[in-house]
Amino acid sequence: MNRGEPTEDERGPGRRRFMIRRKVCRFCADKELKIDYKDMKVVGQFVSERGKITPSRISGNCARHQRLLTAAVKRARNIALLPFTTARD
Ligand SMILES: [Zn+2]
Repeated sequence: MNRGEPTEDERGPGRRRFMIRRKVCRFCADKELKIDYKDMKVVGQFVSERGKITPSRISGNCARHQRLLTAAVKRARNIALLPFTTARD
């Protein structure tokens, strides 16, 4: 591997300009915050415009909550993306 510049890891911690900083899992930090598939204010924060789930290493969620979140997103997708009828011409 010769990639010229040192990676962030090689440079040491505390110099991450892009991406969200490492942080404590939001759901662990805030006990009032609940993962509810009906609550898009919360769940929506972890889903990109394209509907992708933000990976835990970016969102900072712990494995346990990330898992719950994933389940919630999938559930939300079901109710949001499946129409009652396929109304098309
Ligand atoms: Zn957590």
